[in-house]
Amino acid sequence: MALKIIRTLPDPVLRQKARRITTIDDKLQLLIDDMIDTMRHANGVGLAANQVGILQRVVVIEIPEEEDVRVLINPEIIRREGERIIDEGCLSIPGYRGELTRSVQVRARALDRNGKPIRIRAEGLLAQAIEHEIGHINGMLYIDHLENATKLWKINPETQTSETDGN
Ligand code: ZN
Repeated sequence: MALKIIRTLPDPVLRQKARRITTIDDKLQLLIDDMIDTMRHANGVGLAANQVGILQRVVVIEIPEEEDVRVLINPEIIRREGERIIDEGCLSIPGYRGELTRSVQVRARALDRNGKPIRIRAEGLLAQAIEHEIGHINGMLYIDHLENATKLWKINPETQTSETDGN
């Protein structure tokens, strides 16, 4: 396992759409392990493969109060419910936070790291992380969802350690 370098804006890989994964092999398992290490090292709640320069549809999410890390391959949101305004940050946009609207609940489907189909019904931070990470593999960033420029503000990157900063 190894730490990967987290790509930050304006790296063009963050604006590209990742490819669907068709083969779950050892190389992918290694990438997943490296992504988990990298996310934890950065105190992140989630990380998408684009953020480490790999254009494959895989994301990892680890909610602080939950025991297991979630690995989602080819994840898709199949239903969104409700709206809430939250503030959010991103490991690829260090030093900033923004206010945007996210869903209250999402339902998603994906494959787990063994290729088994899974369905997730999520709310709160998990729903936010799923929307944020699926955005990444579609080449989208949270700043695309801001109502206007006043909804983005600078923070001290040294203090960027709270859970929702690290998606
Ligand atoms: Zn992010």
